[in-house]
Amino acid sequence: MPEFNEHLTKMNHCLACGKDLDGAMNVDDTRGPQEGDVSICIYCGTLSVFTKDIDLRPMTFEEEYEVMSGPSGKRMRFLQDRIQAMRHARGS
Ligand SMILES: [Zn+2]
Repeated sequence: MPEFNEHLTKMNHCLACGKDLDGAMNVDDTRGPQEGDVSICIYCGTLSVFTKDIDLRPMTFEEEYEVMSGPSGKRMRFLQDRIQAMRHARGS
């Protein structure tokens, strides 16, 4: 079971659902987010990417393909499925 390390970040907003995002959990390491790290919205499951200033930018199609077909893809799908299940349970 991976250790999830929580980090407070500057206030961002999900690019898809607009919810406030001011924290990140690192599923690979203990460090906080860095440029190029993938972010998954806990509210809607949308993937985005941290910039140098720890803002969020949309993930390109090529980046999404690379992540989802790489070693992290299975975990990303698991998390997106769990997020979708939580949304369904909340009725949103
Ligand atoms: Zn979202």
